[in-house]
Amino acid sequence: MINSEIKAFQKAEEAKKIVSSLDYIESLKNRNLDIYLFGENVIEPVDHPIIRPSINAVAKTYDLANEHPELAAVTSPYTGEKISRFLNVCTSANELVLQNKMQRKLGQLTGTCFQRCVGMDACNALHSVTYEIDQKYNSNYHKRFLAFLKLMHEKNCVIGGAMTDVKGDRSLLPHQQVDPDMFVHITKRTRDGIFVSGAKAHQTGCINSHWLIIMPTMRLSDADKEYAIVGALPVDSPGIAYIYGRQSCDTRSMEGGSIDVGNATFGGQEAMVIFDKVFIPNKYIFMDGEHDFASMLVERFTTYHRRSYVCKTGLGDVMIGAAAAIAEYNGIEKASHIKDKLVEMTHLNETIYGTGIASSYQGFPTASGAYLSDPMLANVCKHHVTKMPYEIGRLAQDLAGGLVATLPSEKELNHPKIGKLIRKYLRGKADVPTEDRIRILRLIENMTLGRNAVGYLTESMHGAGSPKAQRILIGRLMQTEYKKRLARILSGIETETPSNLTEEMGSYFARVFKIDAN
Ligand code: SF4
Ligand code: FE
Repeated sequence: MINSEIKAFQKAEEAKKIVSSLDYIESLKNRNLDIYLFGENVIEPVDHPIIRPSINAVAKTYDLANEHPELAAVTSPYTGEKISRFLNVCTSANELVLQNKMQRKLGQLTGTCFQRCVGMDACNALHSVTYEIDQKYNSNYHKRFLAFLKLMHEKNCVIGGAMTDVKGDRSLLPHQQVDPDMFVHITKRTRDGIFVSGAKAHQTGCINSHWLIIMPTMRLSDADKEYAIVGALPVDSPGIAYIYGRQSCDTRSMEGGSIDVGNATFGGQEAMVIFDKVFIPNKYIFMDGEHDFASMLVERFTTYHRRSYVCKTGLGDVMIGAAAAIAEYNGIEKASHIKDKLVEMTHLNETIYGTGIASSYQGFPTASGAYLSDPMLANVCKHHVTKMPYEIGRLAQDLAGGLVATLPSEKELNHPKIGKLIRKYLRGKADVPTEDRIRILRLIENMTLGRNAVGYLTESMHGAGSPKAQRILIGRLMQTEYKKRLARILSGIETETPSNLTEEMGSYFARVFKIDAN
């Protein structure tokens, strides 16, 4: 075995427990990751002005856990110590609900993607899926996964999930691709573990994590066994390269100043992760060839993750607040059409929240004891998210006026000659400083056109699966035959049978109604 590969795991296993946001930021330093941005290697991401806001967003999860442990922390069942709620595998519907409440709060506090839900949802999905693989194949994955989870609790660290393969020709299965690396797969086996190659695209928060969990991205066939792989590995394992994803207006973070960036403190992060013969030891492998469980894992993960998108309602709260503030600064807050638009934005935002949190409230136990949120409502939540933030953003731009896209720069505002003219002519209400008006406009720009439009809009469209993916699940779960039968009975075509109605409802409704009855 090659020493450097073993060493990466040993180092990660010996890492100190992270308690505070400062510990977290320290833990990211000197990791020697192979990161590319603007054609150069990033030596220290913590100090990079484009990357740092994304680190701050993750750091905020530690602050919230310390300031509001009832919301953002749990007691580990393995260590008995306080750890982040992002590391909790839920054993009740209420714990699922609390994840959503924490997500909304963090969205409010950061105005962006705080990146930790992928790892959280992957761990929740893997708890039940590894258990069920073991039941069928008498394998040992669940025990291995629990040992990994215990280690994560001991370290209180950040886990990134890596699911989305680059996929190559979308009409072909993984084993049919001309280039086998279009899906992450096993390239070599040794007595100690496996080596994997391939690439995962748009991986949220990967560079800001300590560990990555790689998972298959879709249903796999018998011929795709070498692609049916789940494993955990340290972010700084040898052979991994990270290619940073640019965001709209990202170089504003390099200009200095704090106004033009819109949100100077927080940002999201996506990168492409390239695996070139990366080693994973046996004890960190949680699926190896059980292709018949790939779709179960993807569906359970996306069920958790699609209701996690209530995160966007926290961003929506910021958007609504910014729209209301700019209306006030413009002196038009009392106009009835302004109020009506704010009501519409709120209605849309709460519609997302309602379905997401309802999905969690209707959570039910799986065989392993982990609770899974309601799949229909999770998909409806995420489907709302592919549309409603765009409308909320549109209304915010409507209330902002054209200035949101034509403002002069911060340097003009502070220019010795022209600055006072800008402060004079861009003033709204007399008692509101022009700079405040500009700051709110820049925030709206940031979330609808700039860096955090990635988190608020495009990630809302494609994160956790594009709209069509949710429509497929909704179509699969919508119980049309059962509903047709209801119609036939009431219209007199068919007679109701005295058998137990819930059993006739089919698995989805039967479960939901049974849970309600309890
Ligand atoms: Fe979490 Fe939302 Fe970011 Fe996904 S998009 S990681 S759910 S904050
Ligand atoms: Fe996401």
